Amino acid sequence: MQVATGKSILNGIAIGPLRIYKKTEIQTCQNSTLTPAEEWERFDAARRKAQEQLAGLYDKALDEVGEENAAIFEIHQMMLDDDDYLDAVKAIIDTQNTTAEYAVTTTGDNFSATFAAMEDEYMRARAADVKDISRRVADILTGQQDAGMDGGRPAILVADDLTPSETVQLDKSKLLGFITRHGSSNSHTAILARTMNIPALIGVDFDDSWDGRLAVLDGYNHCVYIDPAQELLATMEEKRKSDLKQESLLQNLKKKPNITLDGKEIKVYANIGNASDVGLVLQNDAQGIGLFRSEFIYLESENYPTEDQQFALYKRVVETMAGKKVIIRTLDIGADKQAAYFNLDKEENPALGYRAIRICLTRKEVFKQQLRAILRASAFGTVSIMFPMIISVREVRDAKEILAECTAELQAQGTAIGKVEVGIMIETPAAVMLADELAQEVDFFSLGTNDLTQYTLAIDRQNPKLDNFYDPHHPAVLRMIRHTVEAGHRHGCWVGICGELGADLTLTETFLRMGLDELSVSPSAVLPLRKLIRSLDLSSAPTT
Ligand code: PEP
Ligand code: MG
Repeated sequence: MQVATGKSILNGIAIGPLRIYKKTEIQTCQNSTLTPAEEWERFDAARRKAQEQLAGLYDKALDEVGEENAAIFEIHQMMLDDDDYLDAVKAIIDTQNTTAEYAVTTTGDNFSATFAAMEDEYMRARAADVKDISRRVADILTGQQDAGMDGGRPAILVADDLTPSETVQLDKSKLLGFITRHGSSNSHTAILARTMNIPALIGVDFDDSWDGRLAVLDGYNHCVYIDPAQELLATMEEKRKSDLKQESLLQNLKKKPNITLDGKEIKVYANIGNASDVGLVLQNDAQGIGLFRSEFIYLESENYPTEDQQFALYKRVVETMAGKKVIIRTLDIGADKQAAYFNLDKEENPALGYRAIRICLTRKEVFKQQLRAILRASAFGTVSIMFPMIISVREVRDAKEILAECTAELQAQGTAIGKVEVGIMIETPAAVMLADELAQEVDFFSLGTNDLTQYTLAIDRQNPKLDNFYDPHHPAVLRMIRHTVEAGHRHGCWVGICGELGADLTLTETFLRMGLDELSVSPSAVLPLRKLIRSLDLSSAPTT
């Protein structure tokens, strides 16, 4: 058995033979026997045909992966109208008396190299796109088509790279997963793979000997096993079966509203800890992200993640969610979540210590860097900002003031910003008691029941000895939740839960009766919750 590692795009298991996909080399003849005007005409006709193909691909993608993800094929169509691109092709034809296919291939290579060297992440991602469109036109001009994408037995495709258009054209009935040597998890190809629920690994070093061999692509562990041992194969088959069971549940409930039998609707969102979890959110059909624990970005770094690094991650999540709400919680570091480079002092009671918003309000530059990154990402979808560990109105006002400062700075630079909802976590008894006042400051509340239980019951949530005392069903906690919902609603704030209690199915009915507007749970908990909500009838007497 051979094991190779890479970076997983989607958690999932694929089992089957590997098929190495080799793109046919375009045979381009450099010197033309035609006049430059005739070559330009050939190019222009091929370009229009390519645009027709792309329009068809757009429609296909629209059906399969939704508008936001299909948009790449509109971008490709527009790129084929780009003046700079067209001028470059024409200049090569005119000055070098070359064939149209040579000119378009060379232009594609030149533009791609230029984009790849750019600072701007968005432009870098366009490098693959410009190659993709150039190749499409060249294929039309030479009458060549890629072979090997369709046909044959279902397989795990192995390729150096896959362009977005190749990905969407893949025959998914034959595609078990894919593995590429290159590619970035920000690329549209990765976004499409996640959206299509195809287990995929990038950054894998492979060789031709892999072709035809049996393999297990283990997206959970970022690796592929070639010629897997019997025992491993059996375990993976079991895992795959349980995934399929979950998926069939998903199929039944996908796109169905989270609505009770008597018509009460509640939003079911998902919690994520890092950008790559967004695949699970889509896989489980959550309506949005109710809690993005952004501190994990800091915990995974050796040093403060820069504004640009954060922006790239937030943007990726926001774009992938395609307009669905993404609530990004600002840095909640401290207590059990420590990063050495913050140089936080050792504390007697870290859970009651220097953490979360307390750090952000006193280390303003760190906070501003994050806020600016979030605001910039807000231009790409629907973003909300949520402040953790709030205990006073003063803190909320201070945080909002810093947010307004960042907004003003970005606007002065001409940076696009979307409309951003502002909310706070209600996870301290102080915030519950001040809920009426706090609700007048923000758009929403999200109850952090993990900490709310800890602080209400004075029980360290980290201490395993206290497990039996840590009771989130405690009447004090439940009353606090009710109080928060009522206070929020009195002032036009929507109220949700993003702590673990939101997924507690024994309390779902209670939460619905309390009037909670949203429950945000781990991705795998979304569908069981939806199933239960759809079976409840609140017009009858409470069952609990
Ligand atoms: C909570 O406290 O309930 C919460 C959602 O935040 P965390 O678990 O990250 O502290
Ligand atoms: Mg908390």
